[in-house]
Amino acid sequence: MRLAHMKRVSHSLVFVVVMIALLAVLAVLQYVWLGQVSDGERERLKARLESDTRRFADDFNREMQSAYFNFQLPINIWESNDWSEFNDRYDFWRGRSAYPNLIRSFSFVDLKRDSILVYDSASKSFVPGTLPENVAGVRTMLKQSGEVPAVASEVPALLMPVYDVHESIKKIIVRSSDSPPEPIKPQMPDRKGFLVIELDKSVVKDGIVADLTKKYFSESDGANYDLAIVDAQNRPVFDTPVLAGSDSTAKLLDLQMDNFVFYQNRDTLPRTGVTRSVVFSATTQKIETKSAKTNSNSNIDLHILTDDIKPRIDIRESKPRDGGEAAWVLNVQHSSGSIENFITSTRRRNLGVSFGILSLIGASILFIFLSAQRARTLAQRQVDFVSSVSHEFRTPLAVIYSASENLADGVAREPGQITRYGELIKNEGRKLSAMVEQILEFAGARSGKRRYDFEELNLDDLIDDAIDESRPLIDREKFTIERERCGSAIVSADRAALTGAFQNLISNSVKYSNGSKWMRIGCVRHDGKVSIEFEDEGIGIAPVDLKQIFEPFFRARSVVDEQIHGNGLGLSLVKETVEAHRGSIEVESEVGKGSRFVIQLPTV
Ligand code: ADP
Repeated sequence: MRLAHMKRVSHSLVFVVVMIALLAVLAVLQYVWLGQVSDGERERLKARLESDTRRFADDFNREMQSAYFNFQLPINIWESNDWSEFNDRYDFWRGRSAYPNLIRSFSFVDLKRDSILVYDSASKSFVPGTLPENVAGVRTMLKQSGEVPAVASEVPALLMPVYDVHESIKKIIVRSSDSPPEPIKPQMPDRKGFLVIELDKSVVKDGIVADLTKKYFSESDGANYDLAIVDAQNRPVFDTPVLAGSDSTAKLLDLQMDNFVFYQNRDTLPRTGVTRSVVFSATTQKIETKSAKTNSNSNIDLHILTDDIKPRIDIRESKPRDGGEAAWVLNVQHSSGSIENFITSTRRRNLGVSFGILSLIGASILFIFLSAQRARTLAQRQVDFVSSVSHEFRTPLAVIYSASENLADGVAREPGQITRYGELIKNEGRKLSAMVEQILEFAGARSGKRRYDFEELNLDDLIDDAIDESRPLIDREKFTIERERCGSAIVSADRAALTGAFQNLISNSVKYSNGSKWMRIGCVRHDGKVSIEFEDEGIGIAPVDLKQIFEPFFRARSVVDEQIHGNGLGLSLVKETVEAHRGSIEVESEVGKGSRFVIQLPTV
């Protein structure tokens, strides 16, 4: 029976070990898989962010470029007083732009004559005047002889140079896009002046930027981004906080030809080798392309434009500023600090959840295993209980049976003999009923039906009662009980229940005495409490058993093997009773030296 039990235990142990190992494998797979998922997610988010940022910038720049290139007009406009071509362009732009209020003012700074024309929208013409307040500062910048940026970013305003191209240009050489070490600069004609296009900052902010933010960075796909637009000195353009870092950046107010869609002659331009800094309006020109070798061994395409008929070439500068640096930069940062942070924290969270689930499954498996183990042990104990109870019943029943048989058969006729048999039957009967009583008591306590009748009692009296009740056993075993009195300690107790519990401890000390014949019942009082100690020098209890001795049906293997009578219910009933009296029970024991049970009860 015990062997089968152990076999079952080892089977389920193997099962548990296999399950835990499988869970560990799953955990490793999960870890690796989540790593791959995070890598994929990081790439996806980065690619998506980069494309959204680029599209944001493209859309933004397109608005700016259309406002810029649309107003590239031939020089003669500024010399005649006919503004109809300008007005046509302006109407055309307003009709096409989604932000017709973007341009606040137009001013023409004539560098040759040192005069200023300001566009008057009421009369739809340019009239002499002074630069509007916001753009007044750009005048000194325009006067310098070198390259002037296409954008005055603080205003913001677009600065369009107007070239003096009355004279005939027979040839112009444009360097190819594979930059030779020394860039060949095209010979630019003189600048006549600048058209200053002042933009409305609030339209840029609340119109273009707000719309594009909504279009590309709304939170619909779950990713949450912070945006900031800064100037070349990294100062925020609008009153937004500066970001600590950025996951993606793009140039704004970038007027390079690459982004240029508005230019009408784009398709007629030679595809290769066109400089990135000059755009030609070359509708009537023939374009010859020749290749030449330079000293530095790099290929340069020479585009020679000749105009035999009429010298009319418009040259438009489209480069934003030296070094390709944009006036504004769009910085986009993930709201959790960076995409990397976001991915790391998401991964950590996912790992936490999946490891949590796996540990929960692991813990459940262990719990089920332990519960099954417990149930099995309990079932085993109950079987042991039934056999030990039957065993306990057998001896008194056999004695009663043979004594009564002797009486019935008239074997015992002498009055002395009859008395002895009667005594024997009485004693064995009492033993039997005590055993039945204990079992019923246990069943009652288990079902919660047991009722206690509390009254204030002298503790010493209760201990005396318990000793008296155990007297036949004590005398038979010739036991000595060393007794300390409790000094009139009063406890609130159920007389029968508490006396029964004490009696149980006394009889255990006698039963498991191992021939020592001595026990002590001590008593210690301390505020509001009293401790009653039942000490013996018996067989003692092994440390592994100590935890279990208060469990119903538990009996130490050694006492079962030594065939010491008992049913394993006594201590569980003692504990139940003591706890019903708001007390506690503890035990200290050493195998071969003895045991000490201490009951602590509140005093009245
Ligand atoms: P029973 O005595 O009927 O077996 P108990 O519940 O009273 O049941 O005790 C449970 C077990 O605790 C005993 O089987 C025994 O192994 C151990 N035990 C109890 N009291 C003592 C003691 N005084 N000395 C040694 N072992 C004890």
